[in-house]
Amino acid sequence: MQKMQEQFSADPEQVLPGLFRALMKIKLLLRAEVMKKSRFWQWLVATALLVATSAASAAGYVIHAGRFVDVEAGEVREQVSIVTDGNRISDVRPGFIAARSGQQLLDLRGHTVLPGLIDLHVHIADEFSPKYHSEYFFMEQADYALRAIPFAERTLLAGFTSVRNLGEKEHGVTYAIRRAVEAGHIDGPRIFTAGAGLATTGGHSDPTNGLRHEYMGDPGPELGVLNGADDARKAVRQRYKEGADVIKLTVTGGVLSLAKSGDNPQFTAGELTAVMETAHDYNLPVTVHAHGAEGMKRAIRAGVDSIEHGTFMDDEARQLMKEHGTWYIPTLSAGKWVAKKAEEPGYFPEIIRVKAAAVGPQIQETFAAAYKDGVKIAFGTDAGVFPHGQNAMEFGYMVEAGMPPLEAIQAATLNAAQVLRRDQDLGSLVTGKLADIVAVRGDPLKDIDLMNHMAFVMKDGVVYKND
Ligand SMILES: [Zn+2]
Repeated sequence: MQKMQEQFSADPEQVLPGLFRALMKIKLLLRAEVMKKSRFWQWLVATALLVATSAASAAGYVIHAGRFVDVEAGEVREQVSIVTDGNRISDVRPGFIAARSGQQLLDLRGHTVLPGLIDLHVHIADEFSPKYHSEYFFMEQADYALRAIPFAERTLLAGFTSVRNLGEKEHGVTYAIRRAVEAGHIDGPRIFTAGAGLATTGGHSDPTNGLRHEYMGDPGPELGVLNGADDARKAVRQRYKEGADVIKLTVTGGVLSLAKSGDNPQFTAGELTAVMETAHDYNLPVTVHAHGAEGMKRAIRAGVDSIEHGTFMDDEARQLMKEHGTWYIPTLSAGKWVAKKAEEPGYFPEIIRVKAAAVGPQIQETFAAAYKDGVKIAFGTDAGVFPHGQNAMEFGYMVEAGMPPLEAIQAATLNAAQVLRRDQDLGSLVTGKLADIVAVRGDPLKDIDLMNHMAFVMKDGVVYKND
């Protein structure tokens, strides 16, 4: 209820529907003719006051931050006030300033306040389990969408106010989830989605891999399976038509598909060039899932914007990434998770278990080498391979591999916003940007695992969590 009032007060445009609902209620009550006149007037005055108060508190919040992570300057400041107005930050000032009338004070003096976190690699509509492949035959699109509601909520409450969804088992379902969050029907992070990932026949995200022949069919570019440059252009244009925010390709084999190779190259240079040229015509960034070095090199040379996983990245691939300014999204959490699950008898089918045991343990070492070498790194976890809401585990893995905590936080804020091409609105706490603000108790720069205990979450100026 508290959250609903805050949501209501955060957006002045919602005052009108609120008034309309109040008037409808009055009409119904009058029609019922059961209310005594005096009590009716008391109720009417109270309703009018509630609407007036809500409109006034649209002025926003004053947040007193004990510690404030300034990701742009790369430093932590003490005692800072952040002022929000509607869904934007209207001021950031040293010291604790008083709240004016209509503003609500949020006391986070014992906390460290950070920009809303961004996970660049999730699968919000999926969560891997031993039933992952078989449930596809029994679940409808609506089942996938409804099951994702708690996934989205958990992700938001873990402090991730924006996510990028890179592939979905059920075609088109993440657009529906994105719309439901945008409309306020469900609580979740701001979603940027690739829709269905693009593969070649039998490639990592071909949705019919491993099925008996009569079910394999020939999915084609609409469902994300392309062969040749014409198909590549058609598949990208189809994603644009559906409303994708980014194009995702699986340019090498992968771990969780029912296919033999986890790292072979799966796109030709010609197909890659056709994808990049078309996507960039529509101003869509392109990211690629890649474990093997040859597949990632072809993608980098063709002009890809970022590489996911990058497991068997070699010296040459790192040099190419630096030359081309290609981002690296490491997903250490997924590597750790599949390596652990590969030891559990029967968790994976054998064809997957072998790949999980080979690929999983390698990613963290690759990340350490890439960081040392100066490759540009942004934060992504592959949540959905492991349970949603545990996204912040990634920080610990990054720090364990040699990245300082502040840089890990920059990877999940400033850098991730640049990868999304949304750094005008997201990624740091400065005047004019969206009011996506999170906080943990204590100092995560001293103990990075505190990132797993999010105490405060605001998205778009609305408070979703304040423990
Ligand atoms: Zn993934």
